[in-house]
Amino acid sequence: MLQVRGYAVKTAASSFEPFDFERREPGAHDVLIEILYCGICHSDIHQARDEWGGSIYPMVPGHEIVGRVKRTGAEVKKFKVGDAVGVGCFVDSCRACHSCKENEEQFCEKHVAFTYNSLENDLSTPTYGGYSSHIVVDENYVLNVASNLPLANVAPLLCAGITTYSPLRRFKVGPGKRVGIIGLGGLGHMGVKLAVSMGADVTVLSTSKSKEQDALRLGAHHFVVTKDPKNLESLSNHFDFILDTVAGDHDLNVYFNLLRREGVLVMVGIPEKPLTIFPISLIKNRRMFAGSLIGGIKETQEMLDYCAEKNITSEVEVIPIQQIENAYDRTIRGDVRYRFVIDMSTL
Ligand code: NAP
Ligand code: ZN
Repeated sequence: MLQVRGYAVKTAASSFEPFDFERREPGAHDVLIEILYCGICHSDIHQARDEWGGSIYPMVPGHEIVGRVKRTGAEVKKFKVGDAVGVGCFVDSCRACHSCKENEEQFCEKHVAFTYNSLENDLSTPTYGGYSSHIVVDENYVLNVASNLPLANVAPLLCAGITTYSPLRRFKVGPGKRVGIIGLGGLGHMGVKLAVSMGADVTVLSTSKSKEQDALRLGAHHFVVTKDPKNLESLSNHFDFILDTVAGDHDLNVYFNLLRREGVLVMVGIPEKPLTIFPISLIKNRRMFAGSLIGGIKETQEMLDYCAEKNITSEVEVIPIQQIENAYDRTIRGDVRYRFVIDMSTL
């Protein structure tokens, strides 16, 4: 077994502390990765604090991982020592069901081995994520990272990037489409950059007036503070597509009303409590409400290649690992510009 150092929480109420643990020796199809950077996703906070229920402890979160290949198993074909690589939200799946065969492994019908707070395919070994020095992953679940982009800024693409890219593509966002992005956080700011790059007319719907200049700098065409309902009046029946990235309680019906005929609101935020829907807000204008979960390996690679070509990365604040708690507190307050990324050399 390999000895690995990480940071873990032992219970939903405890703080992060150093945690030594073991990972498997790389098998024939595995890649051993030295982790350089790991983004802090709001999902890490939800799970570390057991806001969705069922959390497994001790927990080493982190699913926005970039690093370098240190060793490869005898059968590994796609990677060699020294390559820059990424690992996202899952590290294995059954590979045989319809979803796996259709490159949508995140919906594996048998078992998804999420990168942390989950179990390997043996259904007994807990998975530990990217707040750690090394990770061992089957090469089919490892992504290629272009060497022209700064790696700390690439890390958030592995979750925030693919989570926003996938629904934008699925609903054919492009020139002539009016897009609203609710919440300018980690996901939201990637949604803005990607939707702008695809040629859409992009509006940020934010609770924080202080983020206006940033939104425009990121390429958004319009910025609306949602706290005052008056600001939304002129936007009713306006959008073709709205991406909702909000992590907490909010009124969906307000946003449904902003959709034009057959417009769609895609929910990617995962608040811990149910949200109320008045059916009339969907019935009017034949509006649609959909969800989306990260993306498969093929689409994640497509997104990384697209970002390399268009020079798109995340805006990040790089922190030493000892500051995870502070980064969590600031993210919860909406005070994130726009993704915290842990520099693993500080471990
Ligand atoms: P984040 O960085 O904290 O951004 C969320 C933003 O939402 C905040 O910055 C804030 O922006 C806005 N907001 C407005 N009202 C809020 C409220 N009541 N509570 C919290 N935020 C509020 O979070 P993130 O990492 O982008 O993740 C957003 C959500 O997506 C989380 O629930 C996360 O678990 C989920 N997620 C889902 C997927 C998926 O595949 N579906 C993948 C990753 C994450 P303003 O200041 O602009 O209002
Ligand atoms: Zn995430």
